[in-house]
Amino acid sequence: AQELDAAFFARWMTTAADAVSHEADRLTELDSAIGDADHGGNMRRGFEAVREELGEDVPGTPGAVLMTAGRKLVSTVGGASGPLYGTLLRRTGKALGTGERVGREELAAALRTGIDAVAQLGGAAVGDKTMLDALYPAVEALADSGGKDFEAARAAAERGAEETVPLQARKGRASYLGERSIGHQDPGATSAALLVAALAAADAG
Ligand code: ADP
Ligand code: MG
Ligand code: MG
Repeated sequence: AQELDAAFFARWMTTAADAVSHEADRLTELDSAIGDADHGGNMRRGFEAVREELGEDVPGTPGAVLMTAGRKLVSTVGGASGPLYGTLLRRTGKALGTGERVGREELAAALRTGIDAVAQLGGAAVGDKTMLDALYPAVEALADSGGKDFEAARAAAERGAEETVPLQARKGRASYLGERSIGHQDPGATSAALLVAALAAADAG
């Protein structure tokens, strides 16, 4: 379908919960190299809470699904990633408005609004070795295709996450390591790529 409804966004969130749970050990391993070894646990706890919340009652609009999920992440994840991903989903959801269906170009634009809000909240930019290094390339690829090519967005996010390896972290806990953060993939960029892959999978499914 060209237009995306609330069920699509709920499927994105449950697919993301599956992916995050499946990859939790890997995310924690990455965070043990340049952080405090809790990213997998943080993400799993947050997205399992989102899954439970949406399992009880799926809100009627795409915007409400993402705002509900974002609020849940903020309230269940203590680490930096909770407020940051919570902001991503709440602000993207708010930008989608109150319609029962949204177009794909509309989603690409709303995601950019949400990602900009993450950048503002965290004071980070592309190249700082954070989730933004996966999120911005993904939304660029999506927007370039008129919101149609979720697979291109997935590939761009994955490449962006891999390209954090040679970077020195300038934000978050990893920045405390200075040059010692070089040579490791950023955990948040890695989880961000999982969320984009879940979006592509929700579309295919
Ligand atoms: P914490 O660092 O509090 O333990 P997590 O381990 O859950 O939180 O998340 C760490 C991830 O959060 C990092 O890998 C990075 O991608 C992301 N992150 C941290 N600080 C920022 C920031 N200021 N802006 C964007 N992303 C950030
Ligand atoms: Mg951590
Ligand atoms: Mg922590």
